Amino acid sequence: MAAPLRIICYHPDGVVADRAMARAMARIHQLNAIFNDYDPTSEVRRLCETAGTGKKVQVSDDLWRLLVFSLEISEQTAGAFDVTIGPIVRLWRRARMARELPPAWRFDQARQAVGYQFVRLYPEDRAVELLRPGMRLDFGAVAKGYAIDAALQVMREEGVCSALIDLGGDLGLGDPPPDRDHWNVAVAAIKPGESPSYFVRRARCGVATSGDRYRFVVIDGKRYSHIVDPRTGVGLTDQSEVTVVAPNATLADALATAVSVLRPEKGLAWVDTFPDTAALYLRLVGEHTEVYTSKRWKELTGGTGNAQP
Ligand code: AMP
Ligand code: MG
Repeated sequence: MAAPLRIICYHPDGVVADRAMARAMARIHQLNAIFNDYDPTSEVRRLCETAGTGKKVQVSDDLWRLLVFSLEISEQTAGAFDVTIGPIVRLWRRARMARELPPAWRFDQARQAVGYQFVRLYPEDRAVELLRPGMRLDFGAVAKGYAIDAALQVMREEGVCSALIDLGGDLGLGDPPPDRDHWNVAVAAIKPGESPSYFVRRARCGVATSGDRYRFVVIDGKRYSHIVDPRTGVGLTDQSEVTVVAPNATLADALATAVSVLRPEKGLAWVDTFPDTAALYLRLVGEHTEVYTSKRWKELTGGTGNAQP
């Protein structure tokens, strides 16, 4: 997952807690072997090798479930979120290393191989066909959330319910610590050096943040995010940070990325269509932080929204 992992849990028996954490880590490693985009032997990468060949490939239960979910989000956002964005993301990865924009023809070529409509599902066989040559599925926007949910699930199976999993800043919150009725999560300020002014006080939910704080490239004085607008092929240039609270981390992760692309006007109204889900959209404009919240942000994050921890 290329992200630091932190697990916090409470259980009266340390042996039980250790076993639960070991199983959680093993589960995350297992999912990494499926979704890792940097590893040519991962299940996703092997599936992508069949793109455009007319082959349909039976996939694992995890890949199937996350693909079906991601295609649903892709449809709902009319492709602002697109799980087939891989070829364009690869171009931007190279641009980050080379610090220069790839030539326009490369974008045109990559765009030919992007489109969630070109994924054909065969539910009866749990099989997938990628219709266009060069297609690359990219689960970077959802796999962390999915891994967090899966890891919390195995910890629960081991009897450890009071747990928090932090995978690269995306969080899964299980039952709260003993004698508390919530976890307390600070949302990092978008302005470097500023202390947080937003907090999420919840339990049993997912909290995910998307933004360009760590992954961006500056070319000719313009800052491009690692999140790409599939409609233009260009990395987002508005400096934003989107935090989503949702019933699980998979949904929170997907929505945080999608809302980054959709921007506040469209994105936050869409968030309101999901039960028990809310979002905070911060945008840095010069020295000024613009703040947008979905309707239930205050209610779902513990009332006051932006006071003390
Ligand atoms: P996140 O940090 O969850 O917002 O995910 C960002 C990652 O999602 C990027 O590094 C890409 O791998 C992938 N990605 C970028 N743009 C999109 C997009 N428009 N739709 C789906 N995935 C994307
Ligand atoms: Mg995401």
